[in-house]
Amino acid sequence: PSSMREVVVEIPKVHWNDIGGQDDIKQKLREAIEWPLKYPQSFERMGIKPPKGILLYGPPGCSKTLMAKALATESGLNFIAIKGPELLSKWVGESERAVRDIFKKARQNSPSILFFDEIDGLAISRSDEGSGAVERVVSQLLTEMDGINPLSNVTIVGATNRPDIIDKAILRPGRIDRILYISPPDFESRKEIFNIHLKKVPHNDIDINHLSNITDGHSGAEIISICREASICAMKEDVNATMVKMSHFEEAIKNSKKGITQEMLDFY
Ligand code: ATP
Repeated sequence: PSSMREVVVEIPKVHWNDIGGQDDIKQKLREAIEWPLKYPQSFERMGIKPPKGILLYGPPGCSKTLMAKALATESGLNFIAIKGPELLSKWVGESERAVRDIFKKARQNSPSILFFDEIDGLAISRSDEGSGAVERVVSQLLTEMDGINPLSNVTIVGATNRPDIIDKAILRPGRIDRILYISPPDFESRKEIFNIHLKKVPHNDIDINHLSNITDGHSGAEIISICREASICAMKEDVNATMVKMSHFEEAIKNSKKGITQEMLDFY
């Protein structure tokens, strides 16, 4: 099967406002990707080239994918998402052609974002023992990156929890040469995530400052799951419940687990 047909082009529907907090990251992404598209002459005048690619790294569930999608939505870019490991498993024996096809599709649908999720799964450091397949895919990837003209309006966004194992060749200047750390949400960001959720859910007497305080260390994904659990707690108490209350959130938080450990954070 042609890999070309399996690659889906979409315009996501994630807006900056759907992502709680992380304002500094949003701003940096806009400067790096939205600005060059909107003001190409200014970049030329100032003698700077827009980045070809950006790497977003950090612990799981902290909005790397959301950020990439919001960037596409808000800048009106087409979005093509590929998971690194998929390139090796889905198109066995045809991975290099798949890489070529994916870049071709991105160029045909430009301006676009080519999102490589779990890029570490693809770009295992070539000094590691590994199959020749990984090596060939990485080298095809490098060829394609080098071939992209910054004016062709294809921006590569990579995401990973393991920046340390990415092939250094991928991160050289002229390839993915901007690197952004996406941290777990801080106090203000957690408040915003709860706020975004509570706009959609009937609630009573919720102390958002307190919720944010007691969820220190939780990822954005975990906070979303706490919100869902809180509603379920309310329904368990009364299937006809019309409101979610503080006690439901407290119960949900008590039962939640933190996936992000101090050890992981020290690693970044
Ligand atoms: P992974 O490394 O596991 O792929 P990720 O960093 O790409 O994770 P996302 O896929 O962006 O994380 O986030 C997972 C889910 O968590 C989102 O779909 C969203 O529901 C929720 N989420 C995470 N961070 C936020 C946030 N800041 N605001 C709102 N929702 C968030």
